[in-house]
Amino acid sequence: MLSLSLGLPEFKVIKHDQFADYHLISVEKNSWEERCIHCGFLSSIVHDRRTRKVRDLPILNKDVYLLIHVKRYKCPNCLDVFSERYESVLPRKHQTNRLREYLYQLCLGTTIECVSSKMNIPYTTLKRIFYSIAEKVFNAK
Ligand SMILES: [Zn+2]
Repeated sequence: MLSLSLGLPEFKVIKHDQFADYHLISVEKNSWEERCIHCGFLSSIVHDRRTRKVRDLPILNKDVYLLIHVKRYKCPNCLDVFSERYESVLPRKHQTNRLREYLYQLCLGTTIECVSSKMNIPYTTLKRIFYSIAEKVFNAK
């Protein structure tokens, strides 16, 4: 059994499934409370759960997917329901931040086409990732 640290301290690993060409790692956030995105009130009332699959850095050349067990909280103040947020994965993104940065670095040394086929990620998706990070890097200068 291969034992590797995920290196994402906000998550706890619940399950690790290994398939022929990829790893599926089920995780959940360590925290059990979250601030309401609407009013800022702290809530610990778990309303329901969803799962969300995001791609992460490869392990020994195998693709890695995180299956995040997303907790959705109900705000005791404004009664709205909202999902927890993560440091390592932004809302609506299908890759962890560190994978996005890794892909960006790969593209710098070669072409987007080349990284797209090597990493098995659609060209248009990769192009979007590359330019969103390039813009951040440019604005930070
Ligand atoms: Zn609220």
